[in-house]
Amino acid sequence: MKPLIGIPTFTHEVEGSVRYEGLATYTRAIERAGGAPIFIPLDLGDDALRIIFDRMDGLLFQGGGDVHPSEYGESVAEYCGAIDRACDETELRLLRWSFDTGKPLLAICRGIQVLNVAAGGSLYQDIDAQLPTSIRHPHRKGNPSNYRAHAIEIEPNSRLARAVGTTRIEVNSRHHQSVKQVAPGFHVTARAPDGVIEAIESTNGNYALGVQFHPENLIDDDPRILQMFKEFIQAVSERMRSAE
Ligand code: MN
Repeated sequence: MKPLIGIPTFTHEVEGSVRYEGLATYTRAIERAGGAPIFIPLDLGDDALRIIFDRMDGLLFQGGGDVHPSEYGESVAEYCGAIDRACDETELRLLRWSFDTGKPLLAICRGIQVLNVAAGGSLYQDIDAQLPTSIRHPHRKGNPSNYRAHAIEIEPNSRLARAVGTTRIEVNSRHHQSVKQVAPGFHVTARAPDGVIEAIESTNGNYALGVQFHPENLIDDDPRILQMFKEFIQAVSERMRSAE
């Protein structure tokens, strides 16, 4: 059976009505990799969210706004971006339950940030303001979503290196925040040439991979990146088989 991959949504309020949204690029990448994607609504009580969580075989955390800095012990700086508390609150619960159960997870862009915060790490609220670099990590207007903004150097013995089959790959970049203090239980497995953290992975054997770039936009022109999603789905399938 195809693994069921839950994707928490984000809030989009239009003329007073709240919508929970997710991007088609993520559902498409999960399906191409052999999984069955399903979006998860926000603002649910623990009972309902836990029922959904328990049915999921794995979780994917999508890109989005900034995590509230109070979640890592800071106040909101003027250069912090838009915050979606309903999204924070749902994703933090799902992540902590995942850590407890070892449920596999893939966390993209905002995903790596909320993953790191959920595990006890911190973030740069704005790279340009706090970490001057010659590389432009935020998206430039007019660039396509698959625009390669910079390379990343990948740790040879990491899940990411094994998945993409290389230790250096060109990626896109659409983030103004990044991981500052890496959470306990995680280690850095990729950096941009300027030192900005571009991937973290769990050190305890559970499948928990966070990437700062957007692999879902690169699967059509780089089969190695599609392989990243396939490795994730494979890890989920193996865990399902071992639980049978
Ligand atoms: Mn970047």
